[in-house]
Amino acid sequence: MSFEQLGLQAELLGAVAAEGYTSPTPIQSRAIPVILEGRDVLGGAQTGTGKTAAFALPILQLLNMHSERPARSLLRGQASESDIDTSLHVEDSRGKAAGSFNKGERGRLPRALILTPTRELAAQVEESVRTYGRKLPLRSTVIYGGVGINPQIEALRRGVDILVATPGRLLDHAGQGTLNLSKVEILVLDEADRMLDMGFIHDIRRILKLLPHKRQNLLFSATYSNEIKSLADGLLHEPELIEVARRNTAAETVTHVVHPVGHSRKRELLSHLIKGGDWKRVLVFTRTKHGANRLANQLMSDGVSATAIHGNKSQAARTRALAEFKSGAVRTLVATDIAARGLDIDSLPHVVNYELPNIPEDYVHRIGRTGRAGANGMALSLVCLEEQELLTNIQKVLQHKIQVEKVPGFEQENASASRQAPSFRQPGARQDTRGGKEGFGRRPSSHRDERKSSGDGRNFKRRG
Ligand code: AMP
Repeated sequence: MSFEQLGLQAELLGAVAAEGYTSPTPIQSRAIPVILEGRDVLGGAQTGTGKTAAFALPILQLLNMHSERPARSLLRGQASESDIDTSLHVEDSRGKAAGSFNKGERGRLPRALILTPTRELAAQVEESVRTYGRKLPLRSTVIYGGVGINPQIEALRRGVDILVATPGRLLDHAGQGTLNLSKVEILVLDEADRMLDMGFIHDIRRILKLLPHKRQNLLFSATYSNEIKSLADGLLHEPELIEVARRNTAAETVTHVVHPVGHSRKRELLSHLIKGGDWKRVLVFTRTKHGANRLANQLMSDGVSATAIHGNKSQAARTRALAEFKSGAVRTLVATDIAARGLDIDSLPHVVNYELPNIPEDYVHRIGRTGRAGANGMALSLVCLEEQELLTNIQKVLQHKIQVEKVPGFEQENASASRQAPSFRQPGARQDTRGGKEGFGRRPSSHRDERKSSGDGRNFKRRG
């Protein structure tokens, strides 16, 4: 199967070729023709399967084919940067002249709305939309919390065709009257299970009320819980069910390894592995924000460049940390589960579980950061005695045992250190929201877009 056979237009074929994609991934082969037909989709696909392009490419094509924008805007695709500025200026003045922001865009109200659970994912999805659509006269923008609202208001005022957003900030805009969703033709709920886990269901329902009744709906979720089922039942009209292999069943590209190690020697082992293997880019998961900071500092003192990303950092600091990591300026990014959700980092050969997650499905999400789109990846877990039960539960979800490799010099479990190590809660147990844990059931007030409650992720199954 080739991209040409999927019915994509030349500009989009050029864009995927420029990205180096030679053939569509399974979710792309199946979803693109269905979306182009205007049908609803219920997609069981995780991040790493190519699902962003699976919805972004057909959305760009549909919006471009059914363009209702004024002829002046159509010129924009061929316009130089200075021309674009002029055209924006004209549009701004028109908007102001009309005396009302909402009435001023003349056909540049968002026609596609893509909702994502986290800011990082929103930024990445919008970047993909921009990349794939760069030859088309369509505009996209991204809005999320934790950053100033005024530039977003300006971008919305200038006019947008495709809007990518996290739910909280979207509702802020809607509440202030700086966003009009009455022209949305296509809605995407990306990583819908994560949005529900993070407590966004009420926000989603409020957003749905702001959209036109008649529209195309695309819902992507890695897991299929009762909550997802009820959301899908209420949202989708005769959807095409498209399920592609979960990461844990498509794991040929990812090698999983457990390194047994005493709790107190984990950091030493990690430095040893990074330096000894000359790893250039490694994503390390810790369970707590405090732990992420501490580990990043310790790695630095071991001579390994590192930075941390988690929900207590400002959005600017998170963006900077990610940019440093992506550019190769630092080789280790230490992250908590929530902060790392949906991160798409090209060529990420190593993911390390410095501590195993409480919820086995989070292991799957973590390792989904490596081995993406066919590349090879290593998922290493540093496991101490206290984590054995967590490991057993992860292996149950993966439906296979993970290979155990002792690292010479680190193989001895240090019993006394183990006794001092903090005890781990049982999988699924709720954590206290105090004490800085980035745990389940927490609803931090300062990070509206990072909410998370206990997840009930189950395998994505088709309804019978
Ligand atoms: P996603 O699941 O959307 O997060 O995509 C995962 C990664 O796969 C991204 O880095 C994409 O650039 C890449 N990708 C998407 N489609 C293809 C394709 N057809 N061939 C190769 N890589 C792809």
